[in-house]
Amino acid sequence: MDFSIRPELQAKLAAMREFINAELIPIEHSLSQKTWEEVAAEAAPLREKVKAKRWWAPNLPPEIGGTEASVLELGLISEQCGRTPLGHYVFGCQAPDAGNAELLFKHGSDEIKQQYLLPMARGEIRSCFSMTEPEFAGSNPVRLGTTAVLEGDEYVIDGRKWFTSSYDGSAFIILMAVTEPDAAPHARASMILVPSDAPGVEFVRNVSVMGHAGGGYASHAELRYTNVRVPASNLLGPPGGGFMLAQERLGPGRIHHCMRWLGICDRAFEMMLERAGTREVAEGKLLGSKQLVQAMIAESRAEIDAARLLVLHAAWSIDNEGFKDARAKVSAIKFHAANVLQNVVDRAIQLHGALGMTDDTVLSYWYREERAARIYDGPDEVHKVSLARQLLKPWFDKG
Ligand SMILES: Cc1cc2nc3c(=O)[nH]c(=O)nc-3n(C[C@H](O)[C@H](O)[C@H](O)COP(=O)(O)OP(=O)(O)OC[C@H]3O[C@@H](n4cnc5c(N)ncnc54)[C@H](O)[C@@H]3O)c2cc1C
Repeated sequence: MDFSIRPELQAKLAAMREFINAELIPIEHSLSQKTWEEVAAEAAPLREKVKAKRWWAPNLPPEIGGTEASVLELGLISEQCGRTPLGHYVFGCQAPDAGNAELLFKHGSDEIKQQYLLPMARGEIRSCFSMTEPEFAGSNPVRLGTTAVLEGDEYVIDGRKWFTSSYDGSAFIILMAVTEPDAAPHARASMILVPSDAPGVEFVRNVSVMGHAGGGYASHAELRYTNVRVPASNLLGPPGGGFMLAQERLGPGRIHHCMRWLGICDRAFEMMLERAGTREVAEGKLLGSKQLVQAMIAESRAEIDAARLLVLHAAWSIDNEGFKDARAKVSAIKFHAANVLQNVVDRAIQLHGALGMTDDTVLSYWYREERAARIYDGPDEVHKVSLARQLLKPWFDKG
């Protein structure tokens, strides 16, 4: 196992970090203070700079304008981008577009690729992923209420969804709906591309998350689908293949989420050090001289480093052994890294005192937006159960 980073990649990561520090971090406060349209206008020239530097869309193959990296390399890039909330958007590899582009590349018809994939790969349009429903447990998504019934050469869609992140202002939705109601539970749902403005797609609201409904890319929509008709050729993959495609989409995606979270930890930790090293709590006494504060710093460092090795190991396993063999490792990093993220951001806020609660630093944004890391893409408990079952399987098989 070799996690050493090639000197060229090391140099590229250092250059990316410098660019992010110099150009992105100074505008990150916009996310809490401006509309999404204003933020997007500010980010637009930075996206062009990223393209000019040939860093754009590291998750996509060159034939559609990306700069394709391995899972491990993409993880390391994701860590740098994670240092600011706008990082992935400016680098053209933001969720949910990143995963959706990979789906369209592998499973979209030529027409879908021309109409949706290429403009999305260029950063001209956005997309969203619509699976979770208010009435059904999202942690067990084989139970879905939304249906897509084949009538002639059209699917007719009815249902209700929420937490369709980034629907607001998107061009298309990748929808998960039941198309094969009589099949086995994991073969009932399919993925279907639905234009965001298709008749019958009703935008109910952007759901308010801890006091912020957000807007545009930075929002989570509730949607109602009533008699929505799309061509049967908008089906992605085989009928009933929705879960298979979801696993494909989420597997490597979890590495990038985890590395993004470690990028957040990296920045929050830097801020903790700066605060502890500059804030005077008594005449000539810095906050960092207090042993309870030192314990927070030491625990954070150890937790970040351990999580990072765990995630890099999982990424290396996917690159070298394939996703199937890395499944247990991916479950382990999903809940472990999400909890490290929460601990580190929480400690950073604690050391900043009242300032940590304000929107004058990025910490409050992360505290609000990233608590969800322990819930989306599989809640902690589901990944713990999945990991434990895989470890116990030989014993269960014996019994
Ligand atoms: C910020 C954010 C963004 C999101 N973006 C999207 C998106 O773009 N598209 C989309 O389709 N969905 C999205 N989601 C939804 C997300 O995928 C679901 O919230 C998640 O799958 C959990 O489903 P649920 O909310 O219905 O919780 P439930 O399934 O009702 O579970 C509630 C809780 O029960 C516990 N639990 C569940 N199963 C078990 C178990 N087996 N054992 C023990 N405890 C268990 C867990 O603690 C879980 O958090 C997003 C969610 C958030 C918060």
